[in-house]
Amino acid sequence: MPHVVCQPCFGCKYTDCVVVCPVECFYESDKIVFIHPEECIDCEACVPECPVEAIFHEDSVPDEWKDFIRLNAEMAPQGEPITEKKPPLAD
Ligand code: SF4
Ligand code: SF4
Repeated sequence: MPHVVCQPCFGCKYTDCVVVCPVECFYESDKIVFIHPEECIDCEACVPECPVEAIFHEDSVPDEWKDFIRLNAEMAPQGEPITEKKPPLAD
């Protein structure tokens, strides 16, 4: 039962979350990051780092964002690993 990045992350990418992950399981997509469900160890370190509260335990994902459980699982393996903080997106 991994942690899941949800809708509020779109367009943000402050990426405060990725630097604290002990297993480096964040992956970068176009305007969002994803967590690889087979790599996340549920340490919860990333949760308080996210300024927009985009990260939830899989069991606690709000109903309207349940699709993000599948999306993280599908997209993380296709993304580039991201382990260092980046400047926020301009828009
Ligand atoms: S800090 Fe939150 S909004 Fe920013 S990249 Fe991480 S999960 Fe997305
Ligand atoms: S819960 Fe821990 S292991 Fe999972 S993505 Fe967040 S920081 Fe990484």
